[in-house]
Amino acid sequence: MKKSYLVIGAGRFGASVARTLYGLGHDVMVVDNDETLVQQISADVTNAVIANATSETGLKALGVRDFDVVILAIGFDIQASIMAAILLIEMEARYIVAKAQTDLHGKVLSKIGVNRVVYPERDMGHKLAHSLISPTIIDLIEVSDQYSVVEVSAPADMVGKSLKDLDLRARFGISVIALRRNHGGRANIAPVAEDMIEAEDIIVAVGDNKNLKKLEWI
Ligand code: ADP
Repeated sequence: MKKSYLVIGAGRFGASVARTLYGLGHDVMVVDNDETLVQQISADVTNAVIANATSETGLKALGVRDFDVVILAIGFDIQASIMAAILLIEMEARYIVAKAQTDLHGKVLSKIGVNRVVYPERDMGHKLAHSLISPTIIDLIEVSDQYSVVEVSAPADMVGKSLKDLDLRARFGISVIALRRNHGGRANIAPVAEDMIEAEDIIVAVGDNKNLKKLEWI
């Protein structure tokens, strides 16, 4: 279903989010107080306007409440980010996602009432570090402090075995939630015990970080 998004801040992060959402067929309005950035992005989104997100009149004119989601993508200027967040909440924005630069910045945004806080630099750094340490890891999502979802290339010693043979759930408490075949590109999103691991398969699994570490998957 087509949704409407307001992206505040057309820096590297905001511009990337805005272009991707527009590319996926959604309505995207971008706001930045830098005229050059607004011009640069205007052809790639529904609408791009120059406005100051810390000015109440500036924000009001955008009709904040009409958007399904507001993405507050100001990171560097923490004061501007916090001021804009307060105004967005006062204007009853329906759902706010904000980028935080530091833990403290994130905490303040959450306390104010931002619905979701993201830390793109920290999360990307974390993923990169894991992928450097474990060459089989393709992606990692931390579900909580304790659990993660990992996407790994099937280790050679698992090839030719079925999920039943591997018995990952009983041995490590790890559940395989999908198998992606590199040859043929098919994805099996409901793997059963009899499914075999083939060479170059991608395994998507969820489990306890300690156990995922034991398998050298994170
Ligand atoms: P990134 O690391 O993603 O590039 P930045 O924090 O450097 O993030 O960029 C944030 C963007 O937000 C910049 O383009 C900046 O011009 C814009 N910006 C900063 N303050 C305001 C404001 N008060 N109103 C509108 N846009 C702003």
